[in-house]
Amino acid sequence: MSIVGWYNPLTKRLVPLDDPGMELVMPKEVLKYVVEKEQADTRHSGTNITVTASNGCARALAINRMLDTHPDPQKMWPMTGGTLLHKVLGDMVRNGEWWSEEYHPDKCTHIGRIGGVEMGCKIDLLRKDYGAIHDFKTSFKDKTKWIKPGDRATANNWQSSYAVQLSLCAELVQQATGNDMSETELAIWIVSARWQKMFCDRLTINECLNAEVGVSKNYQSGKRWKYGEILEHIKTMFGMWNEAAVEYDGKLEEVPLRRRIEIVSNLPLFGESMFQNRNGGNMCTDYCAIAKDCKACGGGL
Ligand code: SF4
Repeated sequence: MSIVGWYNPLTKRLVPLDDPGMELVMPKEVLKYVVEKEQADTRHSGTNITVTASNGCARALAINRMLDTHPDPQKMWPMTGGTLLHKVLGDMVRNGEWWSEEYHPDKCTHIGRIGGVEMGCKIDLLRKDYGAIHDFKTSFKDKTKWIKPGDRATANNWQSSYAVQLSLCAELVQQATGNDMSETELAIWIVSARWQKMFCDRLTINECLNAEVGVSKNYQSGKRWKYGEILEHIKTMFGMWNEAAVEYDGKLEEVPLRRRIEIVSNLPLFGESMFQNRNGGNMCTDYCAIAKDCKACGGGL
């Protein structure tokens, strides 16, 4: 669906897209860019899904697809800024030994099946001999996303979502191209005030499905989400969405709001964010751009 308005973080009110008060939050041209970029991304529509989207909050995925939203542009900015940085970084390496998502989309975009779900991936950097997949994680904080030198993402540590993400990308490349990717180097570049490289274990699909990649509001008591559990939620949600599509002759825009909310309500509630939080804060209210819409459509803390 669409971004139909903003959450103004200064006044804490939901306002229309063209509300003049938003000019204190960001220049209107930047706000326009943020909306257009989001709407133009076909990966963010229908039942298309990418490895990255499947590895986050399933409820956020459903809300963005099925409901009109009023995001907080300040919380969207890290993602928008990250996209801009990816473009520049892709440009820097494009004549070297790498294909980059920005300049060689045909080489870096692949579709396959994971756990019964058709899924796509867009790889930041794929070495032309298929020997390495690298991913940029950008951050605008003076932090390196808590990565320390020598850290490695495995199926069992808190960076497991990185190992899952890159292992699934390797799997999709293998499915699409037939290249053996079992020995492919998987690495994350944390691009922040400092750079830091972290290698990731190559996991099998089963190891990915069983890896714990997120925490719920019960994180204090150790409740974590397995990637396979999130994928099951997504499968159920897409199934319900497809059923609604059949009922309404493929015209998804005609599915009534009540039915859409019912589908979203089937997912973990507001506050059960899949995002990891090591510092005890609430990831939904701290970081989620659509937290207001999420809370408004049922369930809550
Ligand atoms: S507020 Fe939390 S549970 Fe709701 S969509 Fe955002 S991250 Fe997910």
